[in-house]
Amino acid sequence: MANKTLNMDDDLYAYLHRVSLREPKVLRQLREATELEEHANMRSAPEQGQFMAMLLGLIGARRIIEVGTFTGYGTLWMARALPEDGEIITCDVSERWTFVARRFWEEAGVLDKVRLELGPALATLDALLAAGEDEAFDFAFIDADKVNYDGYFERCLKLVRPGGVIAVDNVLWGGSVIDAADHEQSTEAIRAFNLKLADDARVALSMLPIADGLTLAVKLP
Ligand code: CA
Repeated sequence: MANKTLNMDDDLYAYLHRVSLREPKVLRQLREATELEEHANMRSAPEQGQFMAMLLGLIGARRIIEVGTFTGYGTLWMARALPEDGEIITCDVSERWTFVARRFWEEAGVLDKVRLELGPALATLDALLAAGEDEAFDFAFIDADKVNYDGYFERCLKLVRPGGVIAVDNVLWGGSVIDAADHEQSTEAIRAFNLKLADDARVALSMLPIADGLTLAVKLP
């Protein structure tokens, strides 16, 4: 799905980058390396990475859980925004993609802040909960297989502290959420997830039309 902000023509999008994007060199290099991979459209948009890094600073985040590493582009934006003793636990099933990630995390000097958990993320999140890590995280970023979004969200809601933020990516799914003819599994899952969150009293909610749609849910006390 979209790795740039939707419904913005190329010239305006280039302008937005020109006057506001401050993508460090190592992130640009990782983005360019990712563009050579298949499924390159799964990589986060740079303006979204920069936005999330700012958000982490605003809430003083120290511990993050990320569901869906891919080549670690979003991970790197977030890891750089953490203090020296901060930690990001990132979950993925792909050894090949995360191999690319590790190389750039090392080059960026954030390797000791990143804990990569290879395996199905639902099991990783359950293991964190079983280890008593509930309310031990400040921020969660969900950006993996869409059919499990609800399962990821429910676990992350337990893992983040009150006032903590859960960010959920691709919630506009290239616009297909309003295409009545689209009954693809991922589309249906995102629709159901969005509808559920619409009146979920456990969180404060905002859906941003940045990149492919990013929902922010703040856990209420
Ligand atoms: Ca995504």
